[in-house]
Amino acid sequence: MKKKRLIIVSNRLPLKVSIANGAVAFSKSEGGLATGLDSLYSDYEKHWVGWPGMYPDNDEQKELIQKELHALHITPVFLTSEQIQLFYEGYSNSTIWPLFHYFFAYTHYNPKYWDAYQAVNRIFLEHTILIASEDDIIWIQDYQLMLLPGLLRKEIPTARIGFFLHIPFPSYELFRILPEREFLLKGLLGADLIGFHTIDYMRHFISSVYRILDLDCKINHIYFDKRVVNIDSYPMGINYDLFHNAIERKGIVKYINRYRRQFGNHKIILSVDRLDYSKGILHRLRAFDSFLNDYPEFRSKVSLVMIVVPSRDNVEKYQDLKIKVDETIGAINGRYSDMTWVPVYYFYRGLPFEQLSALYNYADIALVTPLRDGMNLVAKEYVASRQNGTGVLILSEMAGAIVELIESLKVNPNNIEEIKIAIYNALIMPVEEQRERIEKMQKVIKKQNINKWATDFLGELELAGNKQDELMKKIITSDKISQLKTNFHNAQNRLLLFDYDGTLAPFANDPLKATPNEALNKLLHKLMLVPNTSLVIISGRDYTTLEQWFPEKAIKLYAEHGAFFRENDLWIKNFTSDELWKDEILLLFQKIIDKTPGSFIEVKNSALVWHYRKTDSWLAELREKQLIESLVYPCSKLNLQIMRGSKIVEVKVPNVNKGICAQQMLKLKNWDFILSIGDDTTDEDMFKVLPEEAITIKVGRASENARYSLSSYKEVLKMLNEFIT
Ligand code: UDP
Repeated sequence: MKKKRLIIVSNRLPLKVSIANGAVAFSKSEGGLATGLDSLYSDYEKHWVGWPGMYPDNDEQKELIQKELHALHITPVFLTSEQIQLFYEGYSNSTIWPLFHYFFAYTHYNPKYWDAYQAVNRIFLEHTILIASEDDIIWIQDYQLMLLPGLLRKEIPTARIGFFLHIPFPSYELFRILPEREFLLKGLLGADLIGFHTIDYMRHFISSVYRILDLDCKINHIYFDKRVVNIDSYPMGINYDLFHNAIERKGIVKYINRYRRQFGNHKIILSVDRLDYSKGILHRLRAFDSFLNDYPEFRSKVSLVMIVVPSRDNVEKYQDLKIKVDETIGAINGRYSDMTWVPVYYFYRGLPFEQLSALYNYADIALVTPLRDGMNLVAKEYVASRQNGTGVLILSEMAGAIVELIESLKVNPNNIEEIKIAIYNALIMPVEEQRERIEKMQKVIKKQNINKWATDFLGELELAGNKQDELMKKIITSDKISQLKTNFHNAQNRLLLFDYDGTLAPFANDPLKATPNEALNKLLHKLMLVPNTSLVIISGRDYTTLEQWFPEKAIKLYAEHGAFFRENDLWIKNFTSDELWKDEILLLFQKIIDKTPGSFIEVKNSALVWHYRKTDSWLAELREKQLIESLVYPCSKLNLQIMRGSKIVEVKVPNVNKGICAQQMLKLKNWDFILSIGDDTTDEDMFKVLPEEAITIKVGRASENARYSLSSYKEVLKMLNEFIT
């Protein structure tokens, strides 16, 4: 069977390209994602789109690189140094990176950065659509390409598009600061599935979406632009076996023996990061300083081996940090070292795998204390490397990895005192306890490895895509409308069952302002003039309002979800109940309204309704739960029904619903054309009771109970106008 194509799009390619003596040379690039996805065995034919990390001197070189990379299923995206400066060092690393890592004061803003960010996302789009087709799976990586899912969705509407964010998604309070917040969110929502490392990042994202875009979010589904976008957390893992079995390699044993000779009986604390202010390097050094100061008995016995990998050295903040790190290490070594002992061994360079792995194996303690970190793979690599089960991991509670590595010594990376005590506790921890903790953590990360991360994400992306296809099939196309129009005109007896709010008219913040306009009145009038057509409006509105809005008696009206109906000139009560219950329930509603700005109550003849359309979404969700909880007992005692609708909670008399109204209408004639349209959960009752051949249309999010869907009331009106022209 032909393999499915997986197109991975990331800012950097998984390899470094260089040109020497007219020939192209490739070397593997470090970084979790590159190594991770590279080791992914899969059923997919993999293609990669990304920047090769260099600037070719001329077109000839460009073509040569392109040709060689295409043979490896890689499409290079060449960028100019100005684009890298404004898009990568600028918007990506000086605006998004600091803000998303809670370094608000470090956030640089320059409109040129944003222009370049948009332009480069477009360049990535152009390269991706050159190779991508409808049947491919496209997986976009990280914060440099947040606009790409939306851009791609416009070009290839049916493609499976996934997005994974490798850095934290900050709380709404920080994200809202970005002037481009709306565009970034809409860009991301072009994906079918958006993945984050942790539940917290996912929660922050959903909260930003519903506060900034005011979209409908159900648990982890967001309904946007006729599609359902799935959101979930997938903690990224490592290639566990690679690190766990590394000690069996000769090259690594050689390094371990060398370290043993060098360090003798000294305990080694290992620290490995890229140079970045989010990594908490200075706080860590201060804590080690404080440890040596407060526990002098450990001087000459413990050394900190600090690997700092150069990174983003064109960005000013990173240059400043480098100077401070150099100075702080110099000060510590100057203060404490003696002829036979160095407190801090400092390496300002990246180490090859064998050396790093040997250090993971040799070090007694790993000190991983980022101030913020999307995941932190170093912590996982250290744990995986401890084949004999000993070792202690001190881990920041601000790293995504803490969710899985709960047996580490957890510290607040801002609390120097706490880190100092953790170092002491790690040094005196009995070997049995070390083993117990490391083994428990190994179990977790062995299972949750990089392969599982990618397989889980891609599996769910395919599922989300399949569900999406099902939903798309329900959307009424213009061809379908023509066919329905023919059926409408060919029929002998037509029954039209319409909901009102959200179906024939838009929602208004003040429900009384959602009056039918001239165009709608004309449309309804024309529909009624079609012979043998019964037009029925089944609404949740009270009968006084409906009577006022639809005086034409030819329209059959059901008010309050069917509690009343109009026959000729009369409104007839469709239920038996007195109104003694209202005061008791009203009190409970009033309590909630007093605490919930923007919400109000509507008193109907057969129901009480709490409206919260204008209320902040988070608060509304909380109050809705509280209200329903308080209503359960009295409503069951009084035999009343509690119903949740579109931004409302309603308490009403039982055995009244839109399904019952529809059934009453069905009995009247032998209808050979039934059209039922509604947008709310209450309309589902109507869809459910109609015969299979009825044309049931859900407005907004597609529904299992309706055969078709239309995205908004505007499209409903467009379709109905088509019927009568
Ligand atoms: N790494 C490396 N050489 C080094 C130091 C680190 O290859 O000298 C790798 C390390 O093995 C890990 C990655 O760089 O896989 C760092 O990932 P992490 O999530 O800890 O931090 P990031 O740099 O992505 O913020």
